[in-house]
Amino acid sequence: MQQWICNQPGTLSLQEVEIPSRIPGFSLLRVRNIGICGTDIHAFAGNQPFFSYPRILGHELAVEIVESDTFEMGELATIIPYFNCTSCDVCAARKPNCCESLQVFGVHIDGGMREYIVVEDRYILPGKGLTAEELALVEPLSIAAHGLRRAALKKGEKVLVMGAGPIGLFTILLAKIQGALVEVAEPNSSRLQFCVENLGVSEASATAYSTVIDATGNLNAIESGFAKMAHGGKYVLIGLQKQAISFSHPEFHKREATLMSSRNATLEDFEYVMNLFRGEKVKANQFISHRFTKNQVPGIFTKINDPSEQVIKAMISLAE
Ligand SMILES: [Zn+2]
Ligand SMILES: [Zn+2]
Repeated sequence: MQQWICNQPGTLSLQEVEIPSRIPGFSLLRVRNIGICGTDIHAFAGNQPFFSYPRILGHELAVEIVESDTFEMGELATIIPYFNCTSCDVCAARKPNCCESLQVFGVHIDGGMREYIVVEDRYILPGKGLTAEELALVEPLSIAAHGLRRAALKKGEKVLVMGAGPIGLFTILLAKIQGALVEVAEPNSSRLQFCVENLGVSEASATAYSTVIDATGNLNAIESGFAKMAHGGKYVLIGLQKQAISFSHPEFHKREATLMSSRNATLEDFEYVMNLFRGEKVKANQFISHRFTKNQVPGIFTKINDPSEQVIKAMISLAE
């Protein structure tokens, strides 16, 4: 089978290797679609914290069951790519998304940019009618869903989403579905225009929001978000960056504000998103701007990083 490996930043090499063999409790899966996310782009560029090489990227996956004791052959599925230990206190408290020794498939361990993978059955979610493209979008949408679960929005609440990359877009979409009044802050005019035209939100104009959500992962943007919180407000950080964040304690105190981080997602978030696809509340076509085939894989990051391409969401299809 073929696999694409990032041996060092800036390279993606094609390798021919044996199809992995399955062990009991695990399934052999054929990878159908791979969504490309900011994490993959940063890892390829060499500026992802705590990342080591060589590494096979890819964690937003649609797969087909090839060999399994649990699932039906030929069935399409997605995977929860956060492999938890099951024995730490955090796992016991049913927060596997932030397990103390979490291994993210395609980040800490080799991921899905290859034709076949073997994954433990408990991380596999059968698609039950979802298309391969939809299944590959479930993980990034679940990241947004988890951030919103942390925020516990109320209907009619004023929400500011900062950043209109894929996670920001998904957050806007889901916050709207949950009945919030959403505005967006995004310095890139074409991304902002995409939000206004496709998601029906307006550019940030209010002075205060009861919930602010960061989906930029940019230090300056994150620090500016504190002042956007209303009194009694909440601030959820979905985006991640490497530096220390500073903010005015008196301003934070005055608001009796709540600051939260949001890491990965849980089974509930995955199921919530899959049901939104089933209810046609979310459509894959709305977000996939670039589709790549197997032969195009080595050049994808060059293309995605080209600003003139205006990539919203890129996806590789390994199907013939
Ligand atoms: Zn991702
Ligand atoms: Zn654990």
